[in-house]
Amino acid sequence: MTNAISLTDVVKTFGETRAVNGLTLDVPSGICMGLLGPNGAGKSTTMRMLTGQAVPDSGTIEVLGLPIPRQSKQARARMGVVPQRENLDEELTCRQNVAVWSTLLRVPRRDRDAAVDRVLASAQLTDRADSKASTLSGGMRRRLLIARSLVHQPRLVLLDEPTVGLDPQIRGDIWTLIDELRSSGVTVLMSTHYIEEAERLCDDVAVVSHGQVIAQGAPSVLVAEYAGVEALECFGSPDRLTAIEERCSELGFPSRRTGPTLSILRAEAIPLHIVEGFGEVMRRPANLEDVFVRLTGERLEG
Ligand code: ADP
Repeated sequence: MTNAISLTDVVKTFGETRAVNGLTLDVPSGICMGLLGPNGAGKSTTMRMLTGQAVPDSGTIEVLGLPIPRQSKQARARMGVVPQRENLDEELTCRQNVAVWSTLLRVPRRDRDAAVDRVLASAQLTDRADSKASTLSGGMRRRLLIARSLVHQPRLVLLDEPTVGLDPQIRGDIWTLIDELRSSGVTVLMSTHYIEEAERLCDDVAVVSHGQVIAQGAPSVLVAEYAGVEALECFGSPDRLTAIEERCSELGFPSRRTGPTLSILRAEAIPLHIVEGFGEVMRRPANLEDVFVRLTGERLEG
């Protein structure tokens, strides 16, 4: 399988800040890869280097076989880029916003109208095609931003935090769009700090912390490897939680504290008579957040 994206030992500093600190990542063609990490982990900077908007201090980057930044112009013409910051033309209609990009992205003139109609339909914006961008809801704006990036039928799409700031129920519409892209064979690289988003959409997740990829794999594989099947959430006074934490540590079960809750990982293997001594508990499936916290000691969502 060829790689759509390849980053090797990439470093990017801003003054004293090492935003990206020796990041190595291959994204095979045809998969949806998620860059999962908390704010400040270096995800956006990585995305911006892939498009040539930021230049690495060292390391090598290839996108669709082209060296970046040297051939970033050619690479950009072949990929779709959905930035985190919305930069729609407010005074233009949806159709006009996409049409401008169809010209910039060199869609042949005879194909432009059909291409614009196609992406507006896929983003479910056909009936708003002649509305100004300024009149759209937050979810519609995000769909328009994605539609615009797809007008030249790219084989690779980069999405930087595609649902950040959207209500959970609106996120679902964006997820559907991304899932359709993946199903059609387009390679997707998206950054996110939402666990559910990574678990639902991504074939593979690269866990990013302090500018590095610290683990990579299918969400279910990462969860099984680092967190097991089930987590046990324990509640109670801080002293009580500390006692449970110590007991679990003696028994060799990893655990993590999140505010007033203690989560014990690999809980499926804890004998029942021991669990009974923990008082009020709740069992839940282990998830990527457990993986992340276990690996880094940090939280994903603030
Ligand atoms: P993420 O997308 O994971 O939230 P970023 O790539 O935006 O992370 O940021 C990584 C680090 O680099 C942060 O500490 C951020 O403040 C810093 N950073 C990013 N861009 C710049 C910039 N243009 N100038 C200075 N510091 C920056």
